[in-house]
This record gives sequence, C-alpha cells and structure tokens, in this order.
Amino acid sequence: MAMNSFDVIIVGAGSVGTPAALSLAEAGLKVLVLDQCPSVGQGSNKRAIGGLRATHSDPAKIRLCLRSLEVFATWKDRHGDDIEWLKAGYSYVAYRPEEEKTLKELLTVQKSYGLNIGWHDAAAFLEIIPDLNPHGLIGGTFSPDDGNASPLLAVHAFYSRAKKLGATFLFDERVTGLVAAGGRVAGVRTNKGEYAAPIVINAAGPTGADVAAMAGIDVPVRPDSHEAAVTEAVARFLGPMIVDIRPVAGSANYYFYQHATGQVIFCITPSPSIWGMDLRETSSFLPMVASRMVGLIPRLKNLRVRRTWRGLYPMTPDGSPIVGWARELEGYLLAVGMCGQGFMLGPGIGELIERMVLGATTTEDRETLTFLSPYREFKGGEKLK
Ligand SMILES: Cc1cc2nc3c(=O)[nH]c(=O)nc-3n(C[C@H](O)[C@H](O)[C@H](O)COP(=O)(O)OP(=O)(O)OC[C@H]3O[C@@H](n4cnc5c(N)ncnc54)[C@H](O)[C@@H]3O)c2cc1C
Repeated sequence: MAMNSFDVIIVGAGSVGTPAALSLAEAGLKVLVLDQCPSVGQGSNKRAIGGLRATHSDPAKIRLCLRSLEVFATWKDRHGDDIEWLKAGYSYVAYRPEEEKTLKELLTVQKSYGLNIGWHDAAAFLEIIPDLNPHGLIGGTFSPDDGNASPLLAVHAFYSRAKKLGATFLFDERVTGLVAAGGRVAGVRTNKGEYAAPIVINAAGPTGADVAAMAGIDVPVRPDSHEAAVTEAVARFLGPMIVDIRPVAGSANYYFYQHATGQVIFCITPSPSIWGMDLRETSSFLPMVASRMVGLIPRLKNLRVRRTWRGLYPMTPDGSPIVGWARELEGYLLAVGMCGQGFMLGPGIGELIERMVLGATTTEDRETLTFLSPYREFKGGEKLK
C-alpha cells in the first residue's frame, strides 16, 4: 500500500473519531485521522463536562452508552491509564407531576434495554442526595452504574492506544475536499496534501455538515453553544450527577456533579438555543445557572466558581446522533450530530463503526442503525437531551 494510502480515513480526532480510530486499528486496519487542531480532543471534546450515562429515552443511545460505560469503567484495569472514571450514578429530580410522569414513563423502556435504574420517592431520594432542597420534592430516578470521567484524559488514552496499534494521526491539517470517482469515495484533500482510502468517515463534530457538503451530502447538524463552569475543590459531599429537566424562562435543563477531585462542574441548556460558532463566554450564564442550582441545593451558595467556558453541541433536529453510510456516495460514513452526548457515545459508536466497516454488524446493530439513520424523518424528540 502506498504511503499516502489507507484502509480508512477519519475526519476529526474528537470524542467520536478517536475511539473509532482505536477500534479500527484494533481490527488491524490501516487508519489515518486528520484534525485541523494541534492535538487530539481540542474541538467539542475538551469542553464536555465529563458526564457518562446510559440513562436515555432512545434505545439506540441506551445500548451504545451501556457499552461505552463498560469501556470507560474498565479502562484503567485493562490499559493502565487513569481517566478519572468515577462510578457515582446519575439522578433526575422531580418537583412537579410533569417530570415525575416523564421519568416514570421512561423507566419501562430503560429497564427493557438492561439499564439499572429505579424510582425513589422523596424520603428515599434524600438518602441518596441529602443536600437536595426537600421543599416540594416528589422523588427521582437513580441509575447507580452511570458516572463521569475526564474527556481529555480519556481521549488521550484512546489516542495513545490507537497510535500504538498503528493508527496515523496528523494534526494542524484541515480537510478541504473529498476525492471521489465513479460514485464512490477515493480519498480526501487537505491544505497540505492528498490521501487515498476507499472509506472516509466524517466525525467532524459541530462542523460535520460542512465536511459532508464537501461530498455533496446534506446532513442536518447545526452547532449550538452551551456554557459550563467549574468551582474550587471542596471535600466530597455530592454523590451522583444531578439533572433537573424543568424548563424555566431562559433555560431548559441543567446538570452538575462533583468531580472525584472535589470540584463541582455544571452546565445549562439555554432556551431558546443559541445557534452558531461563538465561543466567547457570556455574563448571563452564571447568574442563570447559579440561581437554579442554589435553589435545588442551597448549600452550593458557599462555593466559589473558578472558571467558565463555552463549547458547541453538534445538534440534530431530534436530538439523536446520525450514524450511517451515505446513500449518495459509496464508502462515505457519517458519524456526526452527537448533540450533548458525544463523549459518552464515543466508544460505543467507535465499536459499531468497526463492525460496519468490516461488514460484521449484528441484528442489534442494524436495529440501532435504523434509529440513527441519516435518512430518518427527524420527527421525534429525545426526552433526556
Ligand atoms: C458545555 C458542554 C458540556 C458537555 N457535556 C457533555 C457530557 O457531560 N457528556 C457528553 O457525553 N457530552 C457532553 N458534551 C457534548 C460533547 O462535547 C460533544 O457531543 C462531543 O464532543 C462531540 O464529539 P465529536 O467527535 O462529534 O466532535 P469533536 O469532539 O468536536 O471532534 C470533531 C473534530 O473534528 C475536527 N474537524 C472538524 N472539521 C474538520 C476539517 N475540515 N478538517 C480537519 N478536522 C476537522 C475538529 O477540529 C474536532 O477536533 C458537552 C458539550 C458542551 C459544549
């Protein structure tokens, strides 16, 4: 095989492209990953707050994330790197009958896909999170096998192992075009050269639609900006990630947890969404999220915030990812539109991509792929975005 020739080229060394490269390298394929940034995980990956859950409303995401959780949870034992995995669980709070109903209705499908999750009424829920505001609390769900890890340490661990297994990563190199012949993929062009491969995977995150357009493919992925913050470190007092899905003026859900090293890390979903690529922090984020968090856990008012940042969700119209072969161009695989869950989906999607490339998908995979199809109607709505 010529030097610039590969079995697979991946555009994007982020939350999805990196574990996908690892899985493909593990299968013995010659893989090239190209990223415009100077190192791995510098796009949306490093802006994620590190939440890892299989608690979703969509069966495809439940399945993929259950597998991802196994990868994250066992990584240190299997490969030695500390990715700061902490099995602390996820909890969804209910203070209104609306949220109680939504969360309870989801339990049936969640349990049917093997998720370890249960409903706890207010008294039992307060034993799990003693600092929650008890006033008006109805209860909530708790899924103890979910957790958190460091997005940068994890992506570095995947990257190092992929390289060890022979994958090539080229940084500071921007993909500018696709090479195709006779209705099928032949390679990519970059600002520095040209590379050949019969398979190209678009894992370009928030700009996935621009990269797809280079191949003449239209995908409904739009960047939508979200802010996050981290506090000073204090002795551990919080167990699971806490998610409050009550919409109020200016925001939809918000979520936060205490990291293994003591910092509280948090995030809010603005409503309406803020579309675009703007990464400058705003002055409206902290007052908005802090008042909601302190309302939920009054004790948090004593914490000092150390840093805020802003990043992009690669959003799709229905809140689910887009994974599938393009019908328009043979050999072109889309793995974009991860919304707010690309970090937790990464390893599961990486392994799915490996089976797709090897032509070894299972019946379960094919079912998963119908949920994630680029050609679905995008009508439904993920309840736990
Ligand atoms: C504030 C915030 C909190 C979040 N919290 C969580 C969380 O707790 N858990 C979770 O699972 N997810 C979370 N997310 C979402 C998560 O960050 C994204 O879903 C995920 O990083 C997307 O992964 P990706 O691989 O698709 O994109 P990225 O990680 O952005 O990777 C795409 C890569 O493609 C490269 N690229 C793009 N175009 C080109 C080109 N033309 N040429 C070369 N390279 C290119 C980019 O440089 C980038 O490195 C959060 C996001 C934000 C903003």
